[in-house]
Amino acid sequence: MRAAFLPVLWTLLAAAPAAIASDGDEPMIAIAIHGGAGVISRASMSPENERAYRADLERALDAGYGILEQGGSSLDAIVTAVKILEDSPYFNAGKGAVFSHSGINELDAAIMDGATQKAGAVAGVKHVRNPIELARMVMERTPHVLLAGEGAEEFALEQGVTLVPGSYFHTERRWKQLEEAQRQDRVADATRDTDYFGTVGAVARDRHGNLAAATSTGGMTNKRWGRIGDSPIIGAGTYADNATCAVSATGSGEYFIRAVVAHEICARVRLSGVSAAAAARDVVHGRLKEIGGDGGVIVVDRDGALALEFNTEGMFRAARDSRGRREVAIY
Ligand code: ASP
Repeated sequence: MRAAFLPVLWTLLAAAPAAIASDGDEPMIAIAIHGGAGVISRASMSPENERAYRADLERALDAGYGILEQGGSSLDAIVTAVKILEDSPYFNAGKGAVFSHSGINELDAAIMDGATQKAGAVAGVKHVRNPIELARMVMERTPHVLLAGEGAEEFALEQGVTLVPGSYFHTERRWKQLEEAQRQDRVADATRDTDYFGTVGAVARDRHGNLAAATSTGGMTNKRWGRIGDSPIIGAGTYADNATCAVSATGSGEYFIRAVVAHEICARVRLSGVSAAAAARDVVHGRLKEIGGDGGVIVVDRDGALALEFNTEGMFRAARDSRGRREVAIY
C-alpha cells in the first residue's frame, strides 16, 4: 500500500512547482515604452548613437519591468521607466529636451491611473528635473489635474521635488536645432524634421490588473507663446482605464489633441469591442492620418496585450511581458 502511494506522491510534488510557475497561473504583467516617433532614417543614425539609444531604452524597460516582477504597481513601474528616459540626454524630455523660441526648455508631462481614473499633469515647467514625478504629485496630492508654469513650479517647491537651474537641460545638439529652426523661421517637429524626435512615455499592467500611462516631453523646437502639446492633455497624449487600455502618444501634438487620440483608442475598445491593437492601428493610420497627424502610440490592454503603432518612419520603442516577449526597436 505504502509502496504504491509513494510514486503518486512524488509525481504530485514534482508537478506542483511547475504548475505554480506556469504562465497560465501567473497574472500577466507587461510594460511598453517609447522614446519618440518621427523621421528616423538609418542613414542619419551612427552605429554608436543607435547603441546609446538602445541601451537607455533597455535600461528603462528593464527597470520598469523589474518593479512589476517584484509585485510593484504599474504607476511605480512607468514613473521609474520615464525618469530614466528624462535623465538621458538622448530624448526630448528632462535633460536633452528641445528649446523653445526664447532659448529655454519648457517641459510638459502627464500620468493617469487606470484603476481610479485619477490623473495629474504639468505644463511649461522650467526647473523641475523630473516632470513626471511632479505630474504624479499633482494627481496624488492635489484636487487638480493640470498645473502650468509658475504655479506648477511653486507647487514643486512646496513638495520638495528636485529643482535644477535651466542650464541643466542644455545639450549642444538641441541648441543647434533651435538655431537651425530660427534661421528657417519655423517650429520644428519630429514628424517632419530629421533628428527632432524624443518625447518619452510608458504604459504598464501590473499583476493586480491595474493599468497606467505616462508621457513626458520638451514639446517642439522653437515653440512660442506658451505652446502646449498633447502630452500633458489627458485623453490626447495620455490616457488609462482599467476596463479598456492605457495609451501614451508621441508625434505632432496639435493633431493628437484634435483627434483626442489616446481616449479615442480606449473609447473604441469600450464602445465597439474591438481589440486595443486594432483600435490603435485604426486611429493612428486612419483618423489621425486623415487630419494630417504623424506619430505613434504605445498601448497595453486590460489583459496585458501590448501594441506599438506608428505612421512615421520610426519610433523608439521597447516592450516586455511575462510571456517572454522582450524587444527594443527603432525602425
Ligand atoms: N507630442 C509632442 C508635442 O507635440 C512632441 C513629440 O511627441 O515629439 O509636444
